[in-house]
Amino acid sequence: MKEMLLYDTTLRDGSQGENISFTAEEKVRVAKKLDDFGIHYIEGGWPGSNPKDALFFELAKKTVFNNARITSFGSTRRQGIKPDNDQNLKALLDSETAAVTIVGKSWDLHVEQVMNNTLEENLAMIKDSIAYLKNNDREVIYDAEHFFDGYKENSDYALQTLVAAIEGGVDIIVLCDTNGGSLPFEIKSIINGVKNCLSKKYSPTKNSFPLRIGIHTHNDCGLAVANSIAAVGEGAVMVQGTINGYGERCGNADLTSIIPILCSKMNYPCVSEANLVKLSKLSRFVSEAANMTPLNSRPFVGKSAFAHKGGIHVSAIMKTSRAYEHMNPELVGNKRRVLVSDLSGKSNVEYKAKELGVELDPNGIDSVKIASEIKQLEQQGYQFDVADGSLKILMEKSTNQFEPLFGLESFLITMVKRKDNPCTAQATIKISVAGKEEITAAEGHGPVNALDNAIRKGLSNFYPDIASMRLVDFKVRVIEGREGTAARVRVSIESRDQDHVWSTIGVSEDIIEASWHALAESFQYKLSKKSS
Ligand SMILES: [Zn+2]
Repeated sequence: MKEMLLYDTTLRDGSQGENISFTAEEKVRVAKKLDDFGIHYIEGGWPGSNPKDALFFELAKKTVFNNARITSFGSTRRQGIKPDNDQNLKALLDSETAAVTIVGKSWDLHVEQVMNNTLEENLAMIKDSIAYLKNNDREVIYDAEHFFDGYKENSDYALQTLVAAIEGGVDIIVLCDTNGGSLPFEIKSIINGVKNCLSKKYSPTKNSFPLRIGIHTHNDCGLAVANSIAAVGEGAVMVQGTINGYGERCGNADLTSIIPILCSKMNYPCVSEANLVKLSKLSRFVSEAANMTPLNSRPFVGKSAFAHKGGIHVSAIMKTSRAYEHMNPELVGNKRRVLVSDLSGKSNVEYKAKELGVELDPNGIDSVKIASEIKQLEQQGYQFDVADGSLKILMEKSTNQFEPLFGLESFLITMVKRKDNPCTAQATIKISVAGKEEITAAEGHGPVNALDNAIRKGLSNFYPDIASMRLVDFKVRVIEGREGTAARVRVSIESRDQDHVWSTIGVSEDIIEASWHALAESFQYKLSKKSS
């Protein structure tokens, strides 16, 4: 099998993207998902640079990872000191990761003009730091920062930095297009230049390439994926990137494109087919964790990646999907969507109804009606593809199968703010179940939390099983209003019990109103699931 190592840096380079930040606990959750997916290396952060990353490595020590090597990241030692006096290298060892990645300078411009260093000392820093980590039994990955820019201006020196890394005992050298300005044909010819030079130096008789190289690219020219693939074509065995291409400026190479390209178009089975199917979910999970709106047009995993709009395209893919699809969307866990056409809306509805256990009229009247309701509600800001709980309720209501398991009579929320103390909230709610009314009150950290506690308390008198249900995520997004209309908010709630996770949604100009709808539907879904 052809070797190909996937190296994810979402938690380090990715978190340098604008508006992206993960708590240490979120980083662990993301790392677990990446591990389940089959990523080989997960770079958790820079333990020497901030307490949050140091905490991540503490948490990671207590977490079981089944596939991946958790990797800590740092730079070569500082100028003029010994490696064992360097705090940054010490922090890397303290993180206790089996693999360590260090970054060093390849471009003389950086060495002399940015670092005020000498070219010789920089070479020593690379060699010493790698040797020090190797002596401490770490697998060492060396990120040659600005390698392609450095090579273009002073190839001799750039190559000397790689020689220093080899002499330090490096395991894998990763060539970085840090500024993202290189083009695929340059990547190709520079890697060839590296291979020729190092082969001559280290095995002049066999002329074979003495080490494993990887690639790390940025997307400033929109070419990060293309450049990574070009490097693989020249023999790179490690690809570094981030999920959804998150990262500084225009982002890093997007692993959600690179992985399916490697697996399904280049015959590098770097993850199993069963895991490749989880790719779209992984992409959405990471966008949620980063609180970024998923990009619909993202290749392979975006909502629109296999969406077809009316006319000739739709009729063609109904005959053969290959007519307008470069691959089967199900391979990456995505799905074909047909937009606009009533017929296709209808078949989507029928598919989902079956999945959610809602019976529809076989002559298609129900599904046409539901499809048009969904279309109308999505115009107002609902998003049913991420809210199966609410979709099920909508389908039941539309087909007169809805059985309300409780009703709201009224609720009242009071918020109190005293001096500099945090706000406290109290909610009183009156609900009715089968003609019986119940009034309960509860406190919470905010209005929604108080409301959730109060309704939960009230319902548990009728449905003791409600105790197994927890609210696991609560997200609010402002939907831009059209001109002249007030902005609306969309509240999404994710809930779970011992067996299932489900999502519900509420949309309103008022955040409490939207939250109520999402909460009430979440409880309704849970109760109806039990009674069905
Ligand atoms: Zn980078």
